[in-house]
Amino acid sequence: MLVLDRSLGLADLVEPGGLRELCTSFHALFGLGMRVHASDGTLLAEAAPESEYCAYLREFPEGRRQCKQLRARLAGLADTPEAPTSVRCFGGCAYLAVRVLFEGDEMGRVVYGPFLPADSAGLVPSAAGLGAPLDAVRLRELSGSLRRVDRATLDRIVAAFQRILDLILQGGRRALLTSDAHHAVVEESYREVAEKNRQLRETTERLQELDRLKSNFLATVSHELRTPLTSIIGYSEMLSQGLAGPLNDEQRRFLGTILEKGEALLRLISAILDVSTLDASRIALQRRSLDLRHLCRRAADQALVQSSRKDVRVQFREGYIVPPVEADPELIEKALVNLLDNALKYSPPSGVVEVEVGLTEPEVDEDSEVGFVLLAPTRRYVEVGIHDAGPGIPEPELDRVFDAFYQVDGSATRAHGGLGIGLALAQQFVRAHGGEIRVESRPGHGSVFRLLLPLPPGAET
Ligand code: ADP
Repeated sequence: MLVLDRSLGLADLVEPGGLRELCTSFHALFGLGMRVHASDGTLLAEAAPESEYCAYLREFPEGRRQCKQLRARLAGLADTPEAPTSVRCFGGCAYLAVRVLFEGDEMGRVVYGPFLPADSAGLVPSAAGLGAPLDAVRLRELSGSLRRVDRATLDRIVAAFQRILDLILQGGRRALLTSDAHHAVVEESYREVAEKNRQLRETTERLQELDRLKSNFLATVSHELRTPLTSIIGYSEMLSQGLAGPLNDEQRRFLGTILEKGEALLRLISAILDVSTLDASRIALQRRSLDLRHLCRRAADQALVQSSRKDVRVQFREGYIVPPVEADPELIEKALVNLLDNALKYSPPSGVVEVEVGLTEPEVDEDSEVGFVLLAPTRRYVEVGIHDAGPGIPEPELDRVFDAFYQVDGSATRAHGGLGIGLALAQQFVRAHGGEIRVESRPGHGSVFRLLLPLPPGAET
């Protein structure tokens, strides 16, 4: 029988335990021994306790040999097409071998017996055949331990067994079909997932390669741009100092503009160079004990000088006692200047940017790339929160603003220029200290950027 391209036998469709149960209950009900064989003769289940009559005959070596031979023959009968086959044993009892058919396929064979056919006159084992004298009186007594059965009863027992087996086989086949179909579906999905996985791996490798190429390209270009730009700034400075002769006011004004724009361009190029070559794990930190409130004030002054939004105020929320952190002042100042610069840039006219410095225990963020998950239970952080009342950042963009060259695609932010590298750099600098920059925002209401730096061990209060 075939199920999804597999040929099946009894053992595939019926549980061995179930088959044993069935044989045992039939034996208990009808007193008839039975054995179930697979079509290759393998014994699958049996309920055929030895009768005293057989035990007596098997006391003789020849009896044992003939009994064994008969059992082998009965098991092998599975190969013969004609059924049922009635077989007589040397001791005079009978067996019936019936093929198990399921949907036209032979699945195995059931051997019923030994029993005493109701029409047999009596048992006449041949003493000569066993090569030893037999105790006829004892034999007659023991023959009472054998089931005497007429052919009509035997046929009914066989039909009942066959019907029950048929039901079990149908159930087994249904279960097998379902599990095979399920298996096929799972296998197909697995193949699809494996294929997608392979494509994804290839794409990731390709993207990593492109990212490497892009970084190399940016590093080379910005390096090449920086060299002549430094000369332009240098010569402009010399000109403005009058080293090449006196200048009139207009010339001095023009030179001032060249210098200012040149320096802005140099900052931009340096930032591009930094972002394309920086790796947070490799930044060499010059750590010092830092008072973040003091650093915030310096950064705010610097951001205000750079900013074109002169009408926006920076206001400090005071009153917190914050222990110093061990950090690189230059890098942390750069990160703070960037956050303040953005806050000023995106604030509405005459707006206020609020800065507060405090202590915090960051929530465990399982997506965080840095060690917060491990550090959170024991370490505390100094937090600088920078609040603005600008346009805010839509939820799906919140993580992406830290990607290099990413800008929220909206006219409000585009209008402010920039390259989208400030936050990427600031995040790298802070991560190099084991910290993190986080952002919360409500579009239309403003944003809060939080810079977190771990307190040095032992400084926790
Ligand atoms: P840049 O400001 O030079 O474009 P950044 O990396 O500093 O680059 O910022 C990336 C993007 O994040 C900005 O282009 C802007 O869209 C968004 N963004 C940053 N800070 C703010 C802020 N305070 N309010 C609104 N959007 C902001």
